[in-house]
Amino acid sequence: MDSSLPATQICCPVGDSPCVFTQELQQLRDEVSLLKEQVRTDALTGLYNFRFFSDTLPLEMERSRRSFQALSLIVLDIDHFKKFNDTWGHELGNQVLMLVANLISLTIRKLDYACRFGGEEFVVLLPNTDLRQAKNVAERVREAIQNTPLVHGDNSLSVTVSLGVDEFRANHSDTPDGFIERVDALLYQAKRDGRNCVRSPIIDATPIQTTVTPDEKDALFGLFGGENDIST
Ligand code: GH3
Ligand code: MG
Ligand code: MG
Repeated sequence: MDSSLPATQICCPVGDSPCVFTQELQQLRDEVSLLKEQVRTDALTGLYNFRFFSDTLPLEMERSRRSFQALSLIVLDIDHFKKFNDTWGHELGNQVLMLVANLISLTIRKLDYACRFGGEEFVVLLPNTDLRQAKNVAERVREAIQNTPLVHGDNSLSVTVSLGVDEFRANHSDTPDGFIERVDALLYQAKRDGRNCVRSPIIDATPIQTTVTPDEKDALFGLFGGENDIST
């Protein structure tokens, strides 16, 4: 196929030009692709939405199980946001949500997924990322937000967030909900510890196992054989 052609180009089977049917089909395809984008996007912040996150988390956990790569999750909640809304109004509150979303996007990698979980809570899913790396990302996000106040007229309004972070590994038995709850508990620990901080489990200093178990061998063999490809 000629790669210079647009992927959606449609040809009239009987060679009519212009062809009303191909024009209409093209228009429908464009609309479907726009709707697909909208269905997974949060309208206010432009991040992925809760629906996308709910669909993606189980897939990424399965990928992590099969590839033996860690998958990390950050849950982030804006501090004292109700008070902010009450003081400055809902509209300015929305600007804070957009600012926070933008700073998260600027701080993470292209392969990470930043999603609005709901209200003033966000999640970041970090494939192929262990807890140590994810903690650094969470700390960078926290600092970026703390250092970027919202400018409103003569006022510079500071915003802070609290974050929980943990990793999922192939040998964990978590369900997607269990993984979220585990990280959510760390977020609430951060709130209890005074907010504007990151909380995670203590990183295990024991050496990582380097030998491959028979189960892992089987799973890897399946991976290279292509039978276990979860991308289809
Ligand atoms: P904490 O530090 O414990 O998280 O306190 P909080 O005030 O941030 O948490 P709380 O759950 O009491 O309040 C959340 C607020 O977020 C209340 C709600 O009005 C506001 N909120 C939720 N969604 C939106 C939104 O889309 N826009 C705006 N402006 N506010 C929102
Ligand atoms: Mg909050
Ligand atoms: Mg909240």
